Amino acid sequence: MTVLPDFRTFRPASLAEALTALAGEGARPLAGATDLLPNLRRGLGEPSALVDLTALPELAGVTELDGTLRIGAATTLEDIALHPAVRARFPVLAEAALSVAGPTHRAAATLGGNLCQDTRCIFYNQSDWWRWGNGYCLKAKGDKCHVVVRSDRCYATYHGDVAPALMVLDAKAEIAGPHGRRSLPLALLFAENGGAHLALVPGEIVTAVVVPPADGWRAGYAKVRIRDAIDFPLAGVAVAVKAGDVRVAITGTNSSPLMVPVMAGATVDEVVAAVRKASNVLRTTVVGAKYRRKVLLNETRRLLETLR
Ligand SMILES: Cc1cc2nc3c(=O)[nH]c(=O)nc-3n(C[C@H](O)[C@H](O)[C@H](O)COP(=O)(O)OP(=O)(O)OC[C@H]3O[C@@H](n4cnc5c(N)ncnc54)[C@H](O)[C@@H]3O)c2cc1C
Ligand code: SF4
Repeated sequence: MTVLPDFRTFRPASLAEALTALAGEGARPLAGATDLLPNLRRGLGEPSALVDLTALPELAGVTELDGTLRIGAATTLEDIALHPAVRARFPVLAEAALSVAGPTHRAAATLGGNLCQDTRCIFYNQSDWWRWGNGYCLKAKGDKCHVVVRSDRCYATYHGDVAPALMVLDAKAEIAGPHGRRSLPLALLFAENGGAHLALVPGEIVTAVVVPPADGWRAGYAKVRIRDAIDFPLAGVAVAVKAGDVRVAITGTNSSPLMVPVMAGATVDEVVAAVRKASNVLRTTVVGAKYRRKVLLNETRRLLETLR
């Protein structure tokens, strides 16, 4: 059994202190720990320090001003799903948050941790001896990919549920780091690379997500998983509609959540074709790629027809 590596822990009380601690070489942010700790126990990562973000007032809670929501990155998924403004005006977000893992996870798991969770692959989320026996792989310690042989990049899959729901709501990520603060459309927080899927520079963290007023958009989220009570999406899709316009974002298929380019006034068949073109489902889970592609397209069609 792999044991946890040695690291120091910090629990700063202000954002400035947290950024100072994160400037240390090898330091990593920690929130609910439901993704990071299981990975560290499998020998996936050797941080010098973990910086707990859950006591920072700036990252806490949901606030609403003129229909715009600001959700602190350390807000738990349970609190998001139960928040009256989220349930009333952004039900897709409550739906996506409630679909993550199980109730005990959601009581600890945070928005920032959900967005920034690591990508996953059957050749990676294994014990160290299993990965050693398999010659490791490009994502950690090895020099080849077992999913796309002869590839020079990792195709591990992003399986976060909340990002696509926020993307179709046109949300922005607020970021703070050693070079100051910036704000990004949520889709630009991600990069299509399983080995480096976040567009954050070392020492940067997500402090909040800002969701503009719903403005007539109606949205839903659908995912397919092995065990309905607890599992990551094998494929997930968020769809928003307003008159003839459609926004679609997918997860569980590529190395990042993706906003699918869809033309205004697209028919259901055209939207499904756009999702097929944007998705890149590979053999990264225990369930075959063909099945995952099929349920992704079926769920897109079903959701769109229901919303329309
Ligand atoms: C059995 C099981 C089932 C799961 N099922 C699902 C599922 O269905 N859907 C799903 O989406 N996830 C699932 N997860 C993964 C995980 O529980 C969730 O993604 C959770 O929301 C992660 O949040 P956290 O606060 O616990 O993150 P942590 O584990 O604390 O952190 C995760 C990553 O994000 C980084 N991080 C944390 N906060 C920030 C921040 N503010 N800025 C920058 N980086 C940050 C950390 O450094 C770490 O790399 C599952 C996990 C388990 C163990
Ligand atoms: S996609 Fe390839 S490189 Fe990435 S984790 Fe899987 S086997 Fe490793």
